[in-house]
Amino acid sequence: MLKAETWLKVTQKGLYCVPGDFYIDPHSGVNRAVVTHGHSDHARPGHQSTLATPETLAIASLRMGKSAWKRTQAIKFGKSIRLGSVDVKLVPAGHVLGSAQVIMEYKGNRVVVSGDYKRRSDPTCAPFEVVCCDVFITEATFGLPVFRHPADQGEINKLLNSVARNPDRTHLVGVYALGKAQRLMALLRAAGYDQPLYLHGALNGVTNLYHEFGINLGDLRAVSPESKRQLSGAIVLAPPSATNDRWSRGFVDPLISFASGWMRIRQRARQRGVELPLILSDHADWDELTDTIQAVHADEIWVTHGREDALVHYAQSKGIRARALSMIGYGEEDE
Ligand SMILES: [Zn+2]
Ligand SMILES: [Zn+2]
Repeated sequence: MLKAETWLKVTQKGLYCVPGDFYIDPHSGVNRAVVTHGHSDHARPGHQSTLATPETLAIASLRMGKSAWKRTQAIKFGKSIRLGSVDVKLVPAGHVLGSAQVIMEYKGNRVVVSGDYKRRSDPTCAPFEVVCCDVFITEATFGLPVFRHPADQGEINKLLNSVARNPDRTHLVGVYALGKAQRLMALLRAAGYDQPLYLHGALNGVTNLYHEFGINLGDLRAVSPESKRQLSGAIVLAPPSATNDRWSRGFVDPLISFASGWMRIRQRARQRGVELPLILSDHADWDELTDTIQAVHADEIWVTHGREDALVHYAQSKGIRARALSMIGYGEEDE
């Protein structure tokens, strides 16, 4: 059987598919790129030709400008396309709107690149699809057994209980603009919270885009300098950096929260002055990573980035060949 390392190479610019002549999520401008999703550590400007889902192309254009990618080609989930002598298909990764895994088939060899992914349900994006393969190339952002994300509902309840207990304070919740913000809104709505949600201006663009793609997030309102004093008892969503800077002044007795998988680590919450940490992640936790490795029935696992060693060790203990690619430059934006 053809070995994947003969046709997939780890290069300075990222993972390169030789017979297809394209890179996946390259770090810098290339001739041809396949991009898994819109987070800035994966979608970088400067490519001549970019293939991605329609959602990812829309997100990238919004965030980087229309000219960041010269030519683009939208490919819907499940539709196959031939690049060079490789068949390429995108299937949902369940990470953020439009996020995809890349399926490559070459000479009877099937390789799946997970991109960033999670397995638990997310009302704002299509669920991760298990695709059996010969080689599974996975992320490992939370690839340690200590990382077991709690149920989303419990975290949402923590926030709602805190709002009920503190009617005179404004809850400022730090959320990343792409994915986490919209997921938190959707989870609050699913929990029955029907009050207006107030947004920092930096969250508007992506949130509007989610709306255009059919994700309804209820009554959303802008925060104006004059309205800040009136928001006692309200939930305000803002980029994590804004909850600690001058923007947060003007709210009455704000209660700082932060929704991130890293909130599992108490020290990080303390360092950032977070009073109410919410453990809410868009990445697979240890159980999701190990379950997925087994579910795809791969002979071999490659780990792109994150806590690689434990996952490699785990795979080997199950009789699966495994290697760490130690790719740098990922994991900067999205948790
Ligand atoms: Zn991501
Ligand atoms: Zn990432």
